[in-house]
Amino acid sequence: MGQKRNKLEISGQFLHCPLFLSIDTYEGCTFGCRYCFANPQYDRQNRGGDRREGIRPTSLTAWEKVLEGRSIGNPMIEYLVNKKHPVQLGTKADPFPRGIEPRVQNTRRFLELCNRVSYPVYISTKNTADLPVELLAQGNYVLAVSLASHRAGDIRLLERSTSQPQERLDRVPFGVFKKIIVRWQPFIPALFKSKHGKGIFDRSEIDRFLDLIAGVADGVSISFLSWGAIQDPAILEIVGPDDVDDLDVVELFTYIREEAHLRGMEFYTANYRALSDSPVCCGLRGDEFEISTRWVWGYLIQELFDGEKEYLTVKDLKRAFPDELKGVIFDTMDVPLYSRWAHYCARKTTILEEYIKDFTYNRRMNPANYFAGLYSKVVEGEFRIYFKDYRLLV
Ligand code: SF4
Repeated sequence: MGQKRNKLEISGQFLHCPLFLSIDTYEGCTFGCRYCFANPQYDRQNRGGDRREGIRPTSLTAWEKVLEGRSIGNPMIEYLVNKKHPVQLGTKADPFPRGIEPRVQNTRRFLELCNRVSYPVYISTKNTADLPVELLAQGNYVLAVSLASHRAGDIRLLERSTSQPQERLDRVPFGVFKKIIVRWQPFIPALFKSKHGKGIFDRSEIDRFLDLIAGVADGVSISFLSWGAIQDPAILEIVGPDDVDDLDVVELFTYIREEAHLRGMEFYTANYRALSDSPVCCGLRGDEFEISTRWVWGYLIQELFDGEKEYLTVKDLKRAFPDELKGVIFDTMDVPLYSRWAHYCARKTTILEEYIKDFTYNRRMNPANYFAGLYSKVVEGEFRIYFKDYRLLV
């Protein structure tokens, strides 16, 4: 099995995600989720080049180097890792590919490196059967288990070779993780629509989902599917479009939040972030899973969330940007940023300039608009990002 180039990344969630660092220990995934965006994206990236065959472990050299305080040509990652900013493991491929990880042990190697310095990692997986429990117990980990539905039939329809909901949850070990989050992702509204004409959503099905995860999860994190990039567009014909009205979602999410709280769980969402228990929508909370630096967006979104600021401008962005990094440029072109300028400006413009471009890039396309429950507009020539306070609607 060949090894692929370093996949240590600044996540594509350049603006809206306070968590921000991500890494994959494999390239390609065998779980075959029909809604997945990762594998088609990988194919697109490799068009015309060496196309992917099966699954490959990624190189951990950069991670090892940066953990040791050595340069990897990316001052932003070096800065964040030095401050032990949490890294998300498993964004484009599951870190525990069945039948492969026990043999290849690339994720095991990654965890061993992290254990040496107690590095905080948010592990995202659907495979709870092959977790190296003894290794995880020695580290600093949050487990995020993805589950799209509580019904076995839905999972069979949506995911080719993952485990059934009950089994997936039963396998989660206790006393090992700092926190366990169930990622209700993707949240597919059509699966929870009422079939009896009483309201848009069937609340008894919502309750069943929450009952299933209660007792295992400390929190539930919901986010919608991005229909534009899914693995198998035919699934759209089966589950139906993602066309729910904002008000209906606000009502539903308010209900889910209340019911989650009643069952002793926290509630997080990126799409309707104002309803979330915290603007850090993955479920990491500073008081229990230390986020050494909240990074630029972490500071800014907290100010919007708390109502300290009505809107953000480029001035705020500059204020929140770490002084140590002002004036610093990327040393390498191999920086996978959301920004399409990254390739052109490595070695030419500063990280801060890139950040500002990403902040103001195409107001309609700005990722903040969709993902973070925000909107932007230009007022008197000034670019501003506003918070959609869905709390006011309920
Ligand atoms: S487990 Fe994750 S990466 Fe793998 S196919 Fe499913 S959604 Fe894609």
